[in-house]
Amino acid sequence: MTEDNKPLVRIEGLHKYYGHHHVLKGIDMTVKKGEVAVVIGPSGSGKSTMLRCVNLMETISAGRIHVGDALIGHREINGKLHDLHTKEIAAQRRNIGMVFQKFNLFPHMTALENVIEAPVQVKGQNKNEAKNRAHELLKMVGLGDKTQHYPSQLSGGQQQRVAIARALAMEPEVMLFDEPTSALDPELVGDVLNVMKDLARSGMTMIVVTHEIGFAREVGDTLTFMDGGVVVESGDPRAIIADPQHARTREFLSRVL
Ligand code: ADP
Ligand code: MG
Repeated sequence: MTEDNKPLVRIEGLHKYYGHHHVLKGIDMTVKKGEVAVVIGPSGSGKSTMLRCVNLMETISAGRIHVGDALIGHREINGKLHDLHTKEIAAQRRNIGMVFQKFNLFPHMTALENVIEAPVQVKGQNKNEAKNRAHELLKMVGLGDKTQHYPSQLSGGQQQRVAIARALAMEPEVMLFDEPTSALDPELVGDVLNVMKDLARSGMTMIVVTHEIGFAREVGDTLTFMDGGVVVESGDPRAIIADPQHARTREFLSRVL
């Protein structure tokens, strides 16, 4: 358990290089338990890379990320960082749910099978228990009548909601969303956002990269604007949207609003 006043997610001085390409240039960001942190910014600003570092899909070049009591990707001994073993990385990753722009469901599995796969295979959960939980989760995302459908029989919005249920099935402490509605036809966006709003209201800690400014305004506890691998501006979403303090934020918002 983390202390009440200590943020659940702490990103400190995060740098990421791809070869000589300096993509993240000292990102600081904290998210308290139960908070929704919305991240916006132009394409190429490093939003996905940041999420991928939190989720251990990328190695960190410098800086630290804590999720709860875990130091992501590393173990600290006498002030020096050492890489974790594959098993420890897998254990940390299980605690962090991620939903991508592309839903990446297993095409040969039904919605239900997609949701029970990780709990049964990775966590070793009893199959019947996993099924019961999957039924609940699919009902929660509005797909209680689609449990036996294959991804190809579902709309993009429905597939994305299965992907959300699948991530939740691992009972993560935090959920990361990387432009979850960007690949959807406009009429399907609302249902996915509504599921995310319900999840936020249920107390889930979330980091959401999105261009949906309405979502940021309505459910965001914080809004962070990134550009060129740095955090340009961060604070109360309604304040930033109404009165951005930086020209770059203003210019970006004028394009997406
Ligand atoms: P965003 O999600 O904000 O659009 P990204 O995090 O995807 O930005 O990318 C930030 C920068 O890092 C871009 O310049 C991109 O080309 C570069 N980049 C992302 N992934 C890789 C990679 N695997 N190898 C090399 N460069 C990458
Ligand atoms: Mg991205």
